Amino acid sequence: MRVFHCKCCGNCCRWDGVVHYVPEEGRRIAEFLGISEFDMIQKYTRLSDDRKELVLADKEDGGCVFLTEDNLCSINPVKPHQCGSYPYEWDVPPEYKALCPGYWEEKED
Ligand code: SF4
Ligand code: SF4
Repeated sequence: MRVFHCKCCGNCCRWDGVVHYVPEEGRRIAEFLGISEFDMIQKYTRLSDDRKELVLADKEDGGCVFLTEDNLCSINPVKPHQCGSYPYEWDVPPEYKALCPGYWEEKED
């Protein structure tokens, strides 16, 4: 079994690209934050550049709106599947892999 060790640097929450807004996940995030889904959408999402969907908003520095100054995810228990599945279900280009200081370890099942 391969296990990934994340260094919690936050780089993958800053690099180019979007986190797609999934309504079911949005409702869980809203509940976690103690706000309505409407407020969650208003405050923490934006229209994608192609105007086809909602995505999580960015901060001025380009990082995800939920990334803390300590490089942690402020909604970690309910973060989107897209985030939680990195890097297990992702195949990212080498230039992005190079930005990730995490490492894989082989473990006995
Ligand atoms: S939701 Fe959390 S894990 Fe996902 S990009 Fe934003 S800060 Fe990173
Ligand atoms: S870039 Fe890699 S090490 Fe850094 S937070 Fe993301 S998964 Fe973890």
